[in-house]
Amino acid sequence: MAKTFKIIPIASSAAQAPVFAQAPDTSWHKAGRGSLPYLADIMQRPLRDLRISVTDRCNLRCTYCMPREIFDKDHPFLPRAELLNFEEIERLARSFIQLGVQKIRLTGGEPLLRRGIERLIEELAALNTLEGKPVEVALTTNAVLLAQKAQSLKDAGLARVTVSLDGLTDETFRRMSDSDVPVKTVLDGIAAAQRVGLAPVKVNMVVKRGVNDHEIIPMAGHFRNSGTVLRFIEFMDVGCTNGWRMDDVVPSREILEQIDSRYPIRQVDPNYTGEVAERWHYADGSGEVGVIASVTQAFCHECTRARLSTDGKLYTCLFANSGADLRGPLRAGATDEALSNLITGAWRLRFDRYSQLRHAATGLPRQKIEMSYIGG
Ligand code: SAM
Ligand code: SF4
Ligand code: SF4
Repeated sequence: MAKTFKIIPIASSAAQAPVFAQAPDTSWHKAGRGSLPYLADIMQRPLRDLRISVTDRCNLRCTYCMPREIFDKDHPFLPRAELLNFEEIERLARSFIQLGVQKIRLTGGEPLLRRGIERLIEELAALNTLEGKPVEVALTTNAVLLAQKAQSLKDAGLARVTVSLDGLTDETFRRMSDSDVPVKTVLDGIAAAQRVGLAPVKVNMVVKRGVNDHEIIPMAGHFRNSGTVLRFIEFMDVGCTNGWRMDDVVPSREILEQIDSRYPIRQVDPNYTGEVAERWHYADGSGEVGVIASVTQAFCHECTRARLSTDGKLYTCLFANSGADLRGPLRAGATDEALSNLITGAWRLRFDRYSQLRHAATGLPRQKIEMSYIGG
């Protein structure tokens, strides 16, 4: 159904005035902003989610994300002084929340490598949305360090974790992550997260044809009846280093057909508008499974995510090639209003819809930012 929004200016200073739209009686409602005015981009998409990359480093070298030949010991990772510190992250997060953000996801790189991440979570979890509800703070992790950190993350106020796991055998995991970490380490991390109540744990599996697609059914079988939600992600052409080819993508339809032929499934409604995963339930009641069809069924029209890179740049799309610097003004003493205006300005001009244009765009040279830096 087509969405219609009435644009109403609510700010007084004309030059910098944010474009706000009044959320009418549409499905955006379910996303929880009620009838509050909200900041809208050119395609009328509100700003609801903020992904913060807290480090550009990682303890794995997934071939689709940080191929070892590029991310080797000579790779220029950001020096410490370039990283936003926790006070800076919190200050920017407050600005984003004032403009409508309701959920914050900490990511990277591997977020559990950032020392003292619990302190940041504590600060962020104490913030309230415009509606006065606590901001939901979640985290995406490879779970290598999750078993030892699950309790302290929960105690700090983390709401949920998403764990990335691309196969159940050590051999497949090694092929995908280019590491000798045993799968058991990740499974132990998932179990610890469930035990402390970081639930429901979501498990993301990136599927690459000919590399780990033989693990689709074993993964579905393993995570049914476990209380976790497994989601299959189409391999994406993020960044410029992962050698992406359309032939390596296993379309979500194909994944769903495979699962359905072994474990019958039926589709269920999204939890909220803009949810990226398509949700399915096993017909026998053994839980939920999902697909994220970012390549074959782009969901740009509902994309409400902003990304804050490790060094404080605002990106309005995962496939952006440039971002608005927030760290410079922040460190130069910008007021809250000035920071808010910078974010507003970037969001107002947002016209990103890379995934919808991918097939026209992939033949063209484009310098895209790596996912480990921008935040997956
Ligand atoms: N290190 C953490 C992890 O792996 O969960 C957080 C950062 S990682 C960049 C976030 C998510 O992006 C992971 O689920 C990962 O599988 C996914 N990802 C990375 N590169 C991808 C690609 N080329 N296509 C699809 N998903 C990708
Ligand atoms: Fe690291 Fe996550 Fe990228 Fe894998 S997907 S290399 S775990 S940042
Ligand atoms: Fe959002 Fe960009 Fe992904 Fe489209 S391609 S869903 S605009 S991040």
